[in-house]
Amino acid sequence: MQYPINEIFYTLQGEANFVGLPSVFIRLQGCQVGCAFCDTKHTWELDPKTQVTSIQIAQKLTDQQSWAYFSEEEILAEIAKYSACRHIVFTGGEPAMFDLTKLITKIESNGYTVQIETSGTEPLRITNSTWVTLSPKIDMPGNKQILPKNVTRANEIKMPVGKKQDIDKLKELLQTNQVTTKLIWLQPLSCKENPTKLCIEEALANNWRLSAQVHKYINIR
Ligand code: SF4
Repeated sequence: MQYPINEIFYTLQGEANFVGLPSVFIRLQGCQVGCAFCDTKHTWELDPKTQVTSIQIAQKLTDQQSWAYFSEEEILAEIAKYSACRHIVFTGGEPAMFDLTKLITKIESNGYTVQIETSGTEPLRITNSTWVTLSPKIDMPGNKQILPKNVTRANEIKMPVGKKQDIDKLKELLQTNQVTTKLIWLQPLSCKENPTKLCIEEALANNWRLSAQVHKYINIR
């Protein structure tokens, strides 16, 4: 099995439950959700014209649309370059577009914990022990729906918040899916004052948590 990879890099997780944890991020290429605020639009298209070699992707240091197919062995070899790291994060793009079960099984058997960050719009093909961070993207131009199964499976829900309507949409999602006990994070869409203030107020009012995207404040990836 081959996986379309945009980049693999090592940094500190900046969001939600694992904030501060050294992590290898594996960014898959491809997403059909179409969020206007997306900061990785270069990952949307799986365009053959931007396909390069896995060696070029392994050496890549900037955001670009280029991507390459990696085998499981190549991915494991990339991860192994960061010998201190024990936590792997699948992100995108939308990593749930791909069946990751076999790959994650191999990664876990090498002693790593694994997390997936997903919009919740694709059926999850992962292991039972994968930590699922569901970042719901509701009413986006791609018209993809959040699958109820994914809401049930999620270990945490991390809502991107720019305005009050986003809070309303989150409440509706939680109510529709009868979520009462999950970790709920509010994540400001930017470091600007208004979304951050709104998240703080709503976290206090609902006993939810603030995910402040620490990596943006300390200027790391
Ligand atoms: S789901 Fe994620 S990668 Fe896809 S468009 Fe939205 S923010 Fe971007």
